[in-house]
Amino acid sequence: MTQAPVARAEGQIGFEITFGGQVYRLVGADPHTRKDGRLTALLRWSTFCPDCGVEFVTRSSSTPKSLNRRCDGCKRPGVPVGAGRPS
Ligand SMILES: [Zn+2]
Repeated sequence: MTQAPVARAEGQIGFEITFGGQVYRLVGADPHTRKDGRLTALLRWSTFCPDCGVEFVTRSSSTPKSLNRRCDGCKRPGVPVGAGRPS
């Protein structure tokens, strides 16, 4: 029963969402205990870095409000994807 949030998320592996025009595919979930003691799932999403094209995995809460856009090698906090690049 305590694993329910994770089991539910794992049942949706392969599910895709689009966030800011970037596609993220659910690849896994890990159990996570919130500050209030409730068990929830941390979701693992696979996506492609818009800068270098490498596939990487990022995590979010079970209700993603923001997701990393770039891989670790390209991350530039505060710089929107597409900024400063010729169109
Ligand atoms: Zn990159």
